[in-house]
Amino acid sequence: MRIAGALTALILAANCAAAAECGPDRLGVERIVKVGTQGGLEVGLKTYRQTIPLGDHEVILTFDDGPDAASTPKILDALAAECVKATFFEIGRNAEALPGLARREVLDGHTVAFHTWSHPQPTLRYLPGGDAAARQDILRGMIAVEKAAYGRDVAGAEPRDLAPEAPFFRYPGFADTPELNAWLAANDVGVFGVDLWASDWIKMTPDEELKLVMGRLARTHHKGMLLLHDNHPWTAAMVPMLLARLKAEGYRIVHMTGGGAGSGPTEPAPPGWTSETERVVGALKPRLERAAGKPVASGPIPVKPAPTDNGL
Ligand SMILES: [Zn+2]
Repeated sequence: MRIAGALTALILAANCAAAAECGPDRLGVERIVKVGTQGGLEVGLKTYRQTIPLGDHEVILTFDDGPDAASTPKILDALAAECVKATFFEIGRNAEALPGLARREVLDGHTVAFHTWSHPQPTLRYLPGGDAAARQDILRGMIAVEKAAYGRDVAGAEPRDLAPEAPFFRYPGFADTPELNAWLAANDVGVFGVDLWASDWIKMTPDEELKLVMGRLARTHHKGMLLLHDNHPWTAAMVPMLLARLKAEGYRIVHMTGGGAGSGPTEPAPPGWTSETERVVGALKPRLERAAGKPVASGPIPVKPAPTDNGL
């Protein structure tokens, strides 16, 4: 009894310490939005005509392409120091290689979601194996992340059978297809684009990246779902600066989790909306065809596209 009491006291003390660490001087999480994906969901104004509703100065942080042995721990430390929660869209083979980091993201209270197994280049849309190969890569990635991050061994399952905590998927390069979107929707998996991005696939200094992000936030009416990449050292160096600026300028963090009812919540795009990513992704095909000298669907793609400012 005395031991149990001591343990309880220890746990209470630890909880109090944690609560104290996450006091009002930290950026913290303002609110949690439970996102439902039943029957599918497509959000993110760069690609889709609706997004997650956010109020003035509300930001959702998302990170793609990790985990990364060097940069992800620094980002997790920075988020923990400000008691901020984010969503990590992980590459399956990275999660399989670094399960401790994938697990830490979950234990730290973040949402861990899916970004294919191999992050195919140029994009899932133009894989030589077509949609069947794309589905296989997506599913393999989901299974690997479920195992690494959540400790669930679901090999051989279909997406619906996986029933992940956060059935959220983001396409590499936002290169969706109607067929893949329909397959994901039929499996109750939501598709996440973004409202704004840091262009951090381009090497830059942390100061440059911070300036770019804050400028873009101003242009998206001081709110939005932001895309960063946790596999880049310049982003890892920028995140503490970003959190400090967001706090100083009165921004508040919204954390997405699974478990919402139905599909959404969503709000429609402003009038005059167009897909920014489709212009870029669609333009890839003729470039690839010219490089290959034949239609991209008819055989392996012998070259990779040059890096561009296109959100890949
Ligand atoms: Zn990516």
